[in-house]
Amino acid sequence: MRNHGLSQKDVNDKLTRIIKKDTNFNSGKIFGSMCTAPHYFSQKIYSKYLEKNIGDPGLILGTQKLENDSIHMIGSLLSHPGAIGSVVSGGTEANVIALWAARNYFNISNAEVILPSHSHHSFNKAANILGIKLIKIPSKNGIIDVNLIEKKITRNTILMIGVAGNTPLGLIDPINELSDLAIKFSIPLHIDASFGGFIIPFLRKSKYKIPEFDFSLPGVYSIVVDPHKMGMAPIPSSCILFRNNKFLNSLSNNINYLSGGKKPRKTLLGTSPGASIISLWALMNFLGQDGYSKIALRCMKNTQYLYEKLNTISGIDIVQKPVLNIIGFKFRKISNQSLAKKIRKKGWAISVFPTHIRLVIMPHINRQHIDNFIDSLSS
Ligand code: PLP
Repeated sequence: MRNHGLSQKDVNDKLTRIIKKDTNFNSGKIFGSMCTAPHYFSQKIYSKYLEKNIGDPGLILGTQKLENDSIHMIGSLLSHPGAIGSVVSGGTEANVIALWAARNYFNISNAEVILPSHSHHSFNKAANILGIKLIKIPSKNGIIDVNLIEKKITRNTILMIGVAGNTPLGLIDPINELSDLAIKFSIPLHIDASFGGFIIPFLRKSKYKIPEFDFSLPGVYSIVVDPHKMGMAPIPSSCILFRNNKFLNSLSNNINYLSGGKKPRKTLLGTSPGASIISLWALMNFLGQDGYSKIALRCMKNTQYLYEKLNTISGIDIVQKPVLNIIGFKFRKISNQSLAKKIRKKGWAISVFPTHIRLVIMPHINRQHIDNFIDSLSS
């Protein structure tokens, strides 16, 4: 750090020069991220409440009430208004909490978790930290092959996982079949709806035929939903919801020194932004289900538009007809890595997987951006 501070103007000038190197959502160039520009209203609210620390919840009882209200609103969207849980930092933390709670509840050695091979790498992190063995089930057409699960269930299986809106292609595992298995073998089912949680409920209310994926299925015990993805909330914002507090009671997080008094939170982080909770609550109240439905439908229409445009390009293979607002494609004559390099050189931010290039058609993407991307891909 320098000995003497600069003027605000000098700091701002320096900052602007350096930050210019960042790619922003409003450039229309980011087709690879599951995050988006936070809604302007939630940004305004967030910046008003920067001092709030939910790590000391006894100090901010109003914010804590907003957290409970937010979980109740999201629980209602997921067919269980009585769900309990927390607003946390991201899908990674939320998935870690789900495994942590299950591991502590069952308290057995050699605990195993059964999950799809396409699951997000946050489960690898969770398993590594918690000493859990992951049993990965291969996918068939991009979703978990349910027929392969039964023979992998053992006395050590503490949890099964299904994904609603998976990372590579946005596909949805057959959650109803997973729920049946969960009931049959008395194993709880955790759903990673980090991406899908803020779009599937709205599409299901419209013409989209997406099967049940939430607490309406009796085997589903916990769900992760990330407002900082399709919920357009400021980063960081994720929610972990449980059907009841059976597992949560096994997470003892008593901290004696907090200035607001003992108020244990069943989360991983200590100090963390209360502004995430406040702005999420405000945004959900501002947009309502109507507002979120409009956003979801616009993203799906843009996805269909991009899908049709991509289909007109010769030499291209689209991995699968999109179910949500994610498209995977490849070119027959060029490796995905070389293709990604070429596309990125032209200024586009895209994601590359071993099998395809992934495009995520988030709320910040409009038709003009899509036309520009297609022109650039075709040239
Ligand atoms: N789960 C899924 C399905 C994801 O796609 C992601 C991130 O892309 C995560 C979890 C992790 O979320 P985060 O980056 O918010 O930790």
